[in-house]
Amino acid sequence: GYRKGGYHAVRPGDQFAAGRYVAQRKLGWGNFSTVWLAFDVQSQRYVALKIQKSAPEFAQAALHEIEFLSEITKRDPSNCKCIIQLVDHFKHAGPNGQHICLVFELLGDSLLKLVQYNRYKGIGLDRVRRICKSILVGLDYLHNELGIIHSDLKLENVLLVSTIDPSKDPIRSGLKPNLERPEGNPNGEAGLNAIEKKLKMRARRVHAKLAEKRKSAVEPSRSERRLDGIDLTCKIVDFGNACWADKQFTDFIQTRQYRAPEIILGAGYSFSVDMWSFMCIAFELATGEMLFTPKEGHGYSEDEDHLALMMELLGKMPKKIATMGTRSKEYFDRHGDLKRIRRLKLSSIERVLVDKYKISESDALEFASFLCPLLDFAPEKRPTALDCLKHPWLRYNEDKACGPLNNNDAKNIDLAQSTGSITSGDCTNI
Ligand code: ADP
Ligand code: MG
Repeated sequence: GYRKGGYHAVRPGDQFAAGRYVAQRKLGWGNFSTVWLAFDVQSQRYVALKIQKSAPEFAQAALHEIEFLSEITKRDPSNCKCIIQLVDHFKHAGPNGQHICLVFELLGDSLLKLVQYNRYKGIGLDRVRRICKSILVGLDYLHNELGIIHSDLKLENVLLVSTIDPSKDPIRSGLKPNLERPEGNPNGEAGLNAIEKKLKMRARRVHAKLAEKRKSAVEPSRSERRLDGIDLTCKIVDFGNACWADKQFTDFIQTRQYRAPEIILGAGYSFSVDMWSFMCIAFELATGEMLFTPKEGHGYSEDEDHLALMMELLGKMPKKIATMGTRSKEYFDRHGDLKRIRRLKLSSIERVLVDKYKISESDALEFASFLCPLLDFAPEKRPTALDCLKHPWLRYNEDKACGPLNNNDAKNIDLAQSTGSITSGDCTNI
């Protein structure tokens, strides 16, 4: 909250870095920070200003994020690798302590917003394809060129390059920045917090009602039609939990629903944990629902339920893998069977896509051929980002344009032709 060690309360018009950045409105927030739209008086453009909570552990995380982002930005001078670019950073002293601030290029809405705008129905496979390409270009750069594991890929941490709602886009709408200093706050910090809380609660109620309405509506919403106008490239953000593959900070990473099996088992990890999360994102974009939503039950933990859900889709976990982790004994008996969840409802990604989400058999088959190799309990068997970029499913539109490829053609696609732009390091579109 907004107390010592916590968030820094900001009002539109507040100045940062000796007046260089002027706050406009709040763009979003996470566990560690609030992010504001700000106007950069020096370069005369809008930026995103991330203001970290002030307690030492958050400051540490921010310094850590700066370390990764500086490297990421330095090695990508033409800004084409689908990763957020850091523009500046500084410290800001406020009533709740000293806050480390990061300045980013301004991006648009998160993929979560995109899914919400589409009423949790899935955003259509063509859009999924485009977004997947962007994320994979970003991951290939992180993994292969920098040796960085993101460790927290999820819908909130991938942002579109342009906003869904053009009226909210200060650049496209040519909005004049507000450079007025705010009046003194008559309510003081506490008063401001109370008002913010009330507003937030009201917004939440309105949001819940709207979400219900959206779900029941049949007509495409205005916001849904807006999706057609945007080009759907996106960028990966939030390096607060990133690590070097050869210098890891913790065994326990990733947000629950996007967490790879080896993390739950405590079996060590590498780049392929990001590929697992990527697969979860692709599924969620296509269906509007998370692939795995484990819950604690009578006599079993959330972790065990999570493993059971995975096994229902992938089949039984090979005994060698199941018993390999430091936490394996919590979940598995010596035969490699789950201790507390004995009955599994076996299914497959393809059946789920067809039966539950009503995706056509042929679309489901092709999409599943892209996802299935990533759904592997053995981390080292999962395809890399570069492998995925070569998959025929991503080349779907190009294939259509020059006639369908048969399987053999697809296998023979020339690596240089399909990924030349990535390996050669220039920035032509893939
Ligand atoms: P945290 O580490 O606190 O999770 P993030 O870096 O994920 O912080 O940012 C939190 C939210 O702020 C994001 O989910 C997004 O909504 C918004 N945001 C972050 N960076 C930008 C940016 N460059 N442009 C626009 N919005 C952003
Ligand atoms: Mg975040």
